[in-house]
Amino acid sequence: MSKVLIIGAGGVGSVVAHKCAQVPEVFSEICLGSRTLTRCENIQKSVKARTGCNIEIARVDADRVPETVALIRQFKPKLVINVALPYQDLHLMDACLETGVDYLDTANYEPPDEAKFCYQWQWDYQERFRKKGLMALLGSGFDPGVTNVFCAHAAKHHFDEIYYVDILDANAGDHGHPFATNFNPEINIREVTARGKYWENGAWVETEPLSVKQSYDFPVLGHKNAYLMYHEELESLAKNLKGLKRIRFWMTFSDNYLKHLEVLQNVGMTAIKPVLFEGREIVPLQFLKALLPDPASLGSRTKGKTCIGCEVEGLKNGKHRKMFIYNVCDHEECYREVGSQAISYTTGVPAMIGAMLMLTGKWRGEGVFNMEELDPDPFMEKLNIHGLPWLEKVMS
Ligand code: NDP
Repeated sequence: MSKVLIIGAGGVGSVVAHKCAQVPEVFSEICLGSRTLTRCENIQKSVKARTGCNIEIARVDADRVPETVALIRQFKPKLVINVALPYQDLHLMDACLETGVDYLDTANYEPPDEAKFCYQWQWDYQERFRKKGLMALLGSGFDPGVTNVFCAHAAKHHFDEIYYVDILDANAGDHGHPFATNFNPEINIREVTARGKYWENGAWVETEPLSVKQSYDFPVLGHKNAYLMYHEELESLAKNLKGLKRIRFWMTFSDNYLKHLEVLQNVGMTAIKPVLFEGREIVPLQFLKALLPDPASLGSRTKGKTCIGCEVEGLKNGKHRKMFIYNVCDHEECYREVGSQAISYTTGVPAMIGAMLMLTGKWRGEGVFNMEELDPDPFMEKLNIHGLPWLEKVMS
């Protein structure tokens, strides 16, 4: 029985609140904090209607460490689940250190004024968490998150040596808007417009944004164009999967999405450097975010499925083996269950499972951890129970 504080009342925060409320034997009390109280109130009402559970809500600006510290001291959680934005990661880790509370997030730190994400900023907290006997679990979403656990599962159960990993993320959902992003538009567009990067033979290889593609035959979804991108789990997996020769990340985009993105980029709407507009500075990407549909509003309109998985290649008992470990998730089923589309769902469920494993002591450690550093078995078991069943396909 444990109290948990969720920070960020967005698309993912809503799923985490609903999924934690479904497991009262672990999450005995839940508080949801965000900057905008009305967002918290809407989620609070939905959680009550769907699960019967009363959750507490609070207004908090997580960029202000003293505000979070005050909320933690008042609510006294055992764990803070950070599903606000990557900009808040370090502030929330600081608040956890000050109050002696464990920490979990789903995306690594990114400075607001530079489109760059990297684990080093959070790995630098290693000693501080260790000395205080606290645990910080990084990247407990789907990708990163479940993809890291799929790799750990492959290494534990299916391979003696892993040489190649390709992480493939396909969203064949249709929300009916000409252009929208499935999670926070600012973070999504910063990620997609960045240069591609993959790791091969001990070195990083850079590519022009979305310049490398392949047609991949996804289970259930069939052939889709998948584009090589840099994604944060590559950084930790390249470090933690021993013997690896190459790891890459691919994401599918429709031609329509790419056409809109190209135009927006060409006219400067995806820029993050402020420009002067009618006497005041505005960030074009933040203005674009204000115009685009709120990802949390896409749930009721999105139809179709996602498929995210890891294609792993290596040796078992001296023989070559290649397999795909994956999950298929249906947007409409997610909406029926928790009122959200599958992108928020596939992120929020693993955040709840990571929290559950920490609170029940199945995943325990002192310091800062990436998902693949922990035993994959209890996590894989919980995925099947809590809405993200996985499958394995042996390819050769
Ligand atoms: P949303 O934009 O829908 O939600 C983010 C929420 O964070 C908003 O409700 C916002 O509140 C709140 N927030 C922002 N700044 C602050 C602050 N300073 N203090 C308190 N609350 C704040 O985003 P998503 O729900 O789509 O994404 C949430 C996180 O999940 C992101 O970090 C994203 O990168 C990550 N993610 C991870 C994935 C994975 O698989 N690992 C996949 C998808 C997303 P307010 O409205 O009050 O400003």
